[in-house]
Amino acid sequence: MRDVIVVGGGPVGIVLACLLAEHGLDVQVLERRTKPSMQARAIGIHPPSMRVLRQVGVADEVLARAVRIDAGSVRCGGRTLGRLSFTRMAGRFPFVVALPQYETEAVLRARFRQLKPEGLRSGVLVGTLQDRGDHVNVLAESPDPARPGGGELLGIARYVVVADGARGHLREAAGIASRPVGGGGSYLMADYPDSGEHGSEAVLFFEAGGVVESFPLPSGRRRWVAMTPSLMTDAPIEKLSALIHARTGVQLPPSDALPSSFSVRQRLATAMVNGRVLLVGDAAHEISPIGGQGMNLGWLDALALAPALKHALALPIEARATLGDYDRVRRRSARRAARQAGFNMAMGRPAQGTRLQLRNALVRILAMPPLNGLLARAFTMRWL
Ligand SMILES: Cc1cc2nc3c(=O)[nH]c(=O)nc-3n(C[C@H](O)[C@H](O)[C@H](O)COP(=O)(O)OP(=O)(O)OC[C@H]3O[C@@H](n4cnc5c(N)ncnc54)[C@H](O)[C@@H]3O)c2cc1C
Repeated sequence: MRDVIVVGGGPVGIVLACLLAEHGLDVQVLERRTKPSMQARAIGIHPPSMRVLRQVGVADEVLARAVRIDAGSVRCGGRTLGRLSFTRMAGRFPFVVALPQYETEAVLRARFRQLKPEGLRSGVLVGTLQDRGDHVNVLAESPDPARPGGGELLGIARYVVVADGARGHLREAAGIASRPVGGGGSYLMADYPDSGEHGSEAVLFFEAGGVVESFPLPSGRRRWVAMTPSLMTDAPIEKLSALIHARTGVQLPPSDALPSSFSVRQRLATAMVNGRVLLVGDAAHEISPIGGQGMNLGWLDALALAPALKHALALPIEARATLGDYDRVRRRSARRAARQAGFNMAMGRPAQGTRLQLRNALVRILAMPPLNGLLARAFTMRWL
């Protein structure tokens, strides 16, 4: 019987497992993949998350591999509408850190190996969870679909944390529903050589035809993301470069990268706790990547959940109240993040004539004191 089994060894599951191991708990992670994912996903790591990474013991290594984004500017029609500097923010990390998610995950896995050398079991697909009141059985997929509980017993734990991401099936299997929340859209993105023109700034081009975003990356590269009228699966890099040029006038250098397309949906779980099964990360809240919050939000879940689980295991009589607090506080943060992402996406939609002028005026107002301070806090997730 372990203290905690975490299902899913993505960035959130591994951070939680590191924090639990540091609290002295017996934790195991079960992960279906045998090889790490190299998909282009998160890059932005916000100041509150840097504090989580410092607690995990990897902040210095992440900083050494990453680049720092010191400011963000918004442009339209070749003019700068406003600029937000993060450098005047209080705290040890007055910047956003940019590192490809697969590199961050590699650092985290190495740290978990140090803390618990046998803690990550890969190549294991969890099929079902059975909450028995005082423990949870974790079972593999059943070979017989008519007997869903007939799979091999993979482990037994006092608590199981589902960190199987937005496409995982265990939230539903644990009897927790989810509901869609506002905002959607499709985007195309790729990493290009960085011309150096924008320095360490993130640039948002709020153009009439739709938003284009650009972020610095390590190794002299830059990520460019463009909103598209529909999902452009398999679009060649030339198509993305032409779209960006038509909207912003920026002529990007040739790149051999393969663009990735994605469409956005946002969903929130109606609970993050059901008996001895708990949710963290994308399993609990799928937030639009526009604004770069999903992984960060999951890490902040993990930061709240680790001490709550330690307390629940040490004082079972208080478990219900402690885990209830986790559920309430973290779902409130997820709702805020979804609202902010909805606002970010709405600001980037195509706009013409008066709507475009009003939007530009709003950006100018938001970029002036005192609103720019609030906006910098929101964009760096200080309120989560
Ligand atoms: C294009 C794009 C850009 C993004 N940019 C940002 C950004 O800049 N900043 C940000 O904060 N977020 C960003 N995100 C969101 C971020 O990628 C996710 O929020 C993050 O990956 C969630 O981590 P997770 O560990 O909860 O889930 P995942 O990363 O999805 O990990 C889940 C893990 O569970 C495993 N698993 C699933 N089912 C099972 C099972 N049954 N048994 C065992 N293992 C299982 C999977 O193999 C996987 O390894 C972006 C996302 C996209 C798509």
